[in-house]
Amino acid sequence: MTQHYDVLIIGAGSAGAVVANRLSADPTCMVGLIEAGQMPADPDIADPLKWVALQGRSYDWAYRTVPQKHTANRIHEWPRGRIVGGSSCLHAMAYVRGHRSDFDAWAEAGGPQWSYQGLLPGFVRSENATAADTANGRGTGGPLRVYLPDADVSPVVRAYMAAGNALGVPVLGDHNNGELLGTAANSLNIAKGHRVSVADAYLTPDVLARPNLTLLLGHEVEQLNFAGKTITGVTVVAGGQAFAITAGRVILCSGAIASPLLLMRSGIGDPEMLKPAGIAVRSARTEVGRNLQDHMLTFGNVYAARRPVPPSRLQHSESLMYLNSADLTQTRGAPDMVLGCVAAPSVTEAFTAPAYGTAYTILSGVTHPTSRGEIRPSGPGRTNVPVIDPHYLETEHDRITFRKAVRIAREVGHGAALDEWRDHQVFPGVGAQSDADIDAFVANAASTHHHPCGTCRMGRDDGAVVDPDLKLQGYEGLYIVDASVIPAITSGPINAALIAMAEVWSERVGSGSTISSAA
Ligand code: FAD
Repeated sequence: MTQHYDVLIIGAGSAGAVVANRLSADPTCMVGLIEAGQMPADPDIADPLKWVALQGRSYDWAYRTVPQKHTANRIHEWPRGRIVGGSSCLHAMAYVRGHRSDFDAWAEAGGPQWSYQGLLPGFVRSENATAADTANGRGTGGPLRVYLPDADVSPVVRAYMAAGNALGVPVLGDHNNGELLGTAANSLNIAKGHRVSVADAYLTPDVLARPNLTLLLGHEVEQLNFAGKTITGVTVVAGGQAFAITAGRVILCSGAIASPLLLMRSGIGDPEMLKPAGIAVRSARTEVGRNLQDHMLTFGNVYAARRPVPPSRLQHSESLMYLNSADLTQTRGAPDMVLGCVAAPSVTEAFTAPAYGTAYTILSGVTHPTSRGEIRPSGPGRTNVPVIDPHYLETEHDRITFRKAVRIAREVGHGAALDEWRDHQVFPGVGAQSDADIDAFVANAASTHHHPCGTCRMGRDDGAVVDPDLKLQGYEGLYIVDASVIPAITSGPINAALIAMAEVWSERVGSGSTISSAA
């Protein structure tokens, strides 16, 4: 007999966990939650220090980009969680709401519910902030632990923060009151020394025991099924069998790579992308898979230390420093670049790292890259690997801002506050001073900060993939709630904003109301 649900959620990742929890709180709503992966079983997932080591394991989709012209033709690894908790089981646990002005573009695209002020109830509802972090509207009653470390922060990281401060960079309590310019220890999704994935927070045993919530593990959605312009359900593959599951509403929470691919496999996309992949066109929607945005960081500058660097007690990368490069002393307004300090050597595959414990790294990146990429299917089936082309560093804006960011990172790295730690710069090396030297370094050292988004852009214009209610334009009953609908990337890591978005959507649209009517 065909399984039927009132609501079928595709993907139990960051957004899917929130939506499944909130919608199944109504005991009359029969919710199916489909996940390609399994429950987390690897104890390393819980260990914050091991987050990089998780990449490439069986629960990583392990995507790869095509070679990137402006990064020395390198191919970039894109880990994504294939597991209950999704990418929040692999992520680096940094919790950053973003700068309030980041959400102006969201509000412009979809109305005031998506402004910082509109999302604030979602942030607050999700957060369970530690005592030190409860000022200025941080939530304390939500399911997601937000831990602001203090004594745990590495002495090297403290010295880097002091070196930034000596250049005029303000020291902030944290990065979560709508402002960002300055340096602070990272707020982290860590409790009692363990990672808190979004599933740990939202899909607790009590929630999973709800009689109206069914979690279907090891079920991979092949395609979406429609009757005319109304969704009727999905075709899944589980245990080697393909079968249909029907539903009144389907919520895609499959993430910025899988959601556009699912639409395209189902015939909704740019005919120029679909036809070469052997997919029949159901609806020509040219922006599906486009508008791909991601942050990068340069992994380097690496400094050899003059004494042993103590191992991190957190997740290695303990502090972000958001900067206005025109005036490092600014306290208001959006940043244009970010630095980070890793209490370990951290390099891309293009370099050989010094031994652990002998070096530390100052990362640098661009908060608002203007390069835009795309994702397209290579064939009609779920086993056809996607073609991912982020067009990294394609714009002059991104290349020039990266160059400036490396220079400022080195200024911080050579500050007096780091004298007691710094022996010498290993990468890019003091000899690398010209624009050409630094550009060559960036091309080899830049790598993803793991924030791909924007591939099913939300907006009110005809080109937007979803409307302000996050409903697929032109269709009934199909919604997308995940990183793909983000119209413009926030300044920092995107998971906090995504959780707030899922909270706001669940409360307004999930409960049967609309965002549009409130706008
Ligand atoms: P996901 O969490 O990826 O969830 C998608 C889910 O859908 C997955 O469980 C997947 O298995 C499932 N799925 C996909 N396709 C199908 C299908 N066909 N059928 C069934 N199920 C399917 N963000 C931060 O804010 N801070 C950080 O420190 C940070 N560090 C990161 C480090 C790494 C290594 C990575 C990978 C990400 C990091 N991020 C960080 C980003 C953040 O984790 C993601 O942006 C966020 O988790 C994306 O949420 P999502 O709901 O859009 O997708």
